[in-house]
Amino acid sequence: MAPEGAPDISVSGLTKRYGDVVAVDAIDLDIARGEFFTMLGPSGSGKTTTLRMIAGFEIPDEGTIELAGEDVSRLPPYDRPVNTVFQDYALFPHMTVQQNVEYGLMVRKVKRGERRQRAGEALEMVQLSAHGDRKPSQLSGGQRQRVALARAIVNRPKVLLLDEPLGALDLKLRQEMQIELKSIQREVGITFVYVTHDQEEALTMSDRLAVFNQGRIEQVGPPAHVYEHPESEFIAGFVGVSNVIERDGRRYTVRPEKINILMNGREPQAGAHVELGLVRDVQYVGPVTRYHVTLDRGGELQVLAQNLEEGSSEVLEAKGRRVSLEWRPEQESIIDELEGGSE
Ligand code: ADP
Ligand code: MG
Repeated sequence: MAPEGAPDISVSGLTKRYGDVVAVDAIDLDIARGEFFTMLGPSGSGKTTTLRMIAGFEIPDEGTIELAGEDVSRLPPYDRPVNTVFQDYALFPHMTVQQNVEYGLMVRKVKRGERRQRAGEALEMVQLSAHGDRKPSQLSGGQRQRVALARAIVNRPKVLLLDEPLGALDLKLRQEMQIELKSIQREVGITFVYVTHDQEEALTMSDRLAVFNQGRIEQVGPPAHVYEHPESEFIAGFVGVSNVIERDGRRYTVRPEKINILMNGREPQAGAHVELGLVRDVQYVGPVTRYHVTLDRGGELQVLAQNLEEGSSEVLEAKGRRVSLEWRPEQESIIDELEGGSE
C-alpha cells in the first residue's frame, strides 16, 4: 500500500548474515519519493543493518536495492544519492559550524561563493544562522544534531537516512526536535528513512512505518493503521500495549482507550461487546487513569480512561471493584482465527 508515484527506494529480497545470525531476512520494501518512512523495531531487529545496506556501508548477501529506479546494490556509498545522519553527530571538532556544513561541498569542489550560500541556506533551515562561527563544543546537544542535519541536507541528497538521530537527547528536547525534523523534511521534500525503537516517535513523525522483528518486517502501513489494526501479537504489544484476548475461536486486540469502563452498575450501550471483570490494579497517570481488569471469561485487559472529572482519590478507590467493560465490535482487530472456533 505504498503511496502513488514511482518508488524512490525499492528493496527486494534483502538479506544479511553475520555468521549464524540472520540480521536481515529477505525483506521487501518500497518507499515513495518525499515520504517520511520509519523503520521501527526493538534492539537487534535489523534496522541499522538495513539502513547501512541502503547507504552502501554493508554489502547484502542476497537481494537488490534500487534508488530512483537504478540498481545501486554494488555501488560504493559515495556513488549513491543518499546521505546518512548518525546519532553521534560525527562533526569535526576543530572546524566551525559553517565549515562543518561546507565540508561536503568542498570535497565535491563546489566553488566558494556557492558553498557559502548553500551552507547559509542549510543553517537557516535548521535555525542556526547565528551560530555559524561557533565550534561544535560551544553548542548544545540539540544544536549539534541540527548541524549534522544541515551538513547532510546541504548536499541535496535524494534520500536522507537517519539512525536514531535523537537518541542522545532528553525527552523534552527530543519531542521538540521531532516536530522540527518533520517540518524540515516537508520543506526540503527529501525522502527520509528514519530508524527508531521508540514507538511514539514513529507514530508521531512518519507517513508510513515498517515494524521490524528478528530481521523481518511484520507490518507496513500508516501509523494509525498499524496502531489500530495490528496484524500480529508482536505488533499489538510493540506498538502499544498488547491487550489480546481470545473469544469464540478468535484472538483479537482492542486498544485500551477504545474500552469504556462502567462502574456503579451503569448500563452498557446497545450493540456493544461487554465483558465483566474485577479491577486488579489502578494507576493514576495525571491526565488519564490506567485500569488493569481481570476478566471473568479469562484474560486481562488494560483500559485507559480520561480523567474528565475524577480526582486521583476517586479513581484509586476502584481497585478491587467489579466492573463491566464495553467496546464497539468494530474496535476489535483480529490477530488469529483459531482452529475449531465456534463460528
Ligand atoms: P537494530 O539496529 O535493529 O538494533 P542491527 O541491525 O544493529 O539491529 O542488528 C541486527 C542483528 O545483527 C543483531 O543480532 C546484531 O547483533 C547483529 N549484527 C549487527 N551488526 C553486526 C556485525 N557487524 N557483526 C556481527 N553481528 C552484527
Ligand atoms: Mg540500530
